[in-house]
Amino acid sequence: MKRRSWAEPYKIKMVEPLRMLSKKEREKAIVEAGYNTFLLRSEDVYIDLLTDSGTSAMSDRQWAGLMLGDEAYAGSRNFYHLEETVQNIYGYKHLVPTHQGRAAEHMISKILIKEGDFIPGNMYFTTTKLHQEMAGAKFVDVIIDEAHDPNSEYPFKGDIDLNKLQALIDKVGADKIPYVAMATTVNMAGGQPISLKNLKALRKLTQKYGIDIVHDMTRVAENAYMIQQKEEGYQDKTVAEIVKEINDLTDHATMSAKKDALVNIGGFLATNDPNVFQEARNMVVVYEGLHTYGGLAGRDMEAMAIGIKESVMDDHQRARVGQVQYLGDLLLKAGVPVVKPIGTHGVFLDAKAFYPHLSQDEFPAQTLAAELYVDSGVRAMERGVVSAGRNKETGKHNYPKLELVRLTIPRRVYTQAHMDVVAESVIDVYENAKNAGGLKMVYEPKYLRFFQARFEKL
Ligand SMILES: *Cc1c(COP(=O)(O)O)cnc(C)c1O
Repeated sequence: MKRRSWAEPYKIKMVEPLRMLSKKEREKAIVEAGYNTFLLRSEDVYIDLLTDSGTSAMSDRQWAGLMLGDEAYAGSRNFYHLEETVQNIYGYKHLVPTHQGRAAEHMISKILIKEGDFIPGNMYFTTTKLHQEMAGAKFVDVIIDEAHDPNSEYPFKGDIDLNKLQALIDKVGADKIPYVAMATTVNMAGGQPISLKNLKALRKLTQKYGIDIVHDMTRVAENAYMIQQKEEGYQDKTVAEIVKEINDLTDHATMSAKKDALVNIGGFLATNDPNVFQEARNMVVVYEGLHTYGGLAGRDMEAMAIGIKESVMDDHQRARVGQVQYLGDLLLKAGVPVVKPIGTHGVFLDAKAFYPHLSQDEFPAQTLAAELYVDSGVRAMERGVVSAGRNKETGKHNYPKLELVRLTIPRRVYTQAHMDVVAESVIDVYENAKNAGGLKMVYEPKYLRFFQARFEKL
């Protein structure tokens, strides 16, 4: 058969030069950063796969949108454009903009949670869980078991185990469960999608008990693309249609627009509940700014409105997720242990399998991220015991089953050649894995420790 390749649905108009330090300089830089890739200077990084958050490339339309910023304190034109976009594309009735996702998480947690409540969710996310806990709730993981197994090839590892949810309802009572926290896609599981079949069943169960669904819609369009590719009955639907169908099954949403929505800063809280809207609109003036800007400039809201529309286009998602799959396939072919199947926003290396000689107390994922940086200047992120933090009651480390390093791909930023360089470096680090020693933590911040913790070599 004749080969028919496809390529990105855009061409490059502006470039940003990259710098590569020598190996000696990188060795020095990682020591100075306390073996924490969050503490490296970006100038010292060659290919930056720390996160896909706020790191995507905006389109020329979005840049043009910045010039249309209406910087009025109240009632900015760009707010109304954003509001209309959220209503039309996402389908939620009410919008409260915020400077990023966690500000929306803060508000919805405060509004819906009472002290002593339980919040079930499809695996935790760092900031989401922290805000739930700070509002007085206990997070309960109800994701399917497959999500905790890096080798399970189940296509919808973001699905919720309804038996686990039912067991929680039976144990604590539905009145202690204000909502289920449902994320599209599940970041900590490796960027794994939830299926619409599962979400529909979840909706049925929660409605029976009067429990709401709060949708962490940070990567909803990527999730929709995976449904189109893999879930029976959705092959002829567009990403935009699937996004709408997902959202229509939920009550409220928090959004980090720094991911799917292709902006460098921005987020929002959306809801269909007029009472929640009233309260959030009131609360946002305390923490963020007036309800028509929520901590954002008018121009940021304009870029977000345009980015949301671009994010649900099929050809955009094919190239975005396709690039992630390309990197994943290179590593799979080389026999590198990665979370399977490959998710939508990054490739997750299984650090436990890289370093079977290291215990979780020696921080294998933190070690792997540091080794990768020293090898090639590629910056990745730890998603293991450091990210999981400590148990609120016992003060002991949480030991997650998944001890991962995330190679997160920014949208529309790097080329296929960059992916080749990354794969070659990961393969080298894997081949030298037995020489790696672990780390010890020498400074530990109280909240979200992975951002600022410091380490030394054992
Ligand atoms: C990034 C992220 C958040 C938090 O959003 P911020 O914009 O970083 O505050 C919440 N949930 C998920 C799944 C995320 O990836």
